[in-house]
Amino acid sequence: MTEILHCSICRNPVDFYDKVHLDFLNTITHQYCETKMEIKDFGTFIEIINKYPFFKKSFVTPN
Ligand SMILES: [Zn+2]
Repeated sequence: MTEILHCSICRNPVDFYDKVHLDFLNTITHQYCETKMEIKDFGTFIEIINKYPFFKKSFVTPN
């Protein structure tokens, strides 16, 4: 199952190769959107998906 994730700040879709922040509530936002939440991790969206199994269930990543 493939979902499209939207940034919780700007509401635009997050591309696999966009640089994102993962906050402590496991919310994904673009790095340029500058969340006020505490950042847990960061990287491209695809790096975060591959690092955290709970995202991998929802998103099918290109190889
Ligand atoms: Zn955004």
